[in-house]
Amino acid sequence: MQITCPACGKSQPGAGDNCQRCGCELRALREVLRAAARLAAAAAARLRAGQYAPALALAERSWRLKHSQPAALTAFLAALSGGEDPGAASTWLARMEALEGA
Ligand SMILES: [Zn+2]
Repeated sequence: MQITCPACGKSQPGAGDNCQRCGCELRALREVLRAAARLAAAAAARLRAGQYAPALALAERSWRLKHSQPAALTAFLAALSGGEDPGAASTWLARMEALEGA
């Protein structure tokens, strides 16, 4: 997993608990990113199974850890398919568009 050091901004590959440039501890950040990816994958699996409410809840948990395209897309599709809150789908669409513009 590619990671960017929050202290110095150096992008680096998955190995190593510390930044190659400044020595910043990266293990906790890496664990948060892994958890976000696991939650996004679980959300996508629920979405594929047609379980929209759990898919949306998992995608929201993933989003709280990391603002990612997979989490936003899954949440958007779950909100759209679930149809319980019409405003939620447009909120997630705006979040996806904001990520694309970043
Ligand atoms: Zn660094």
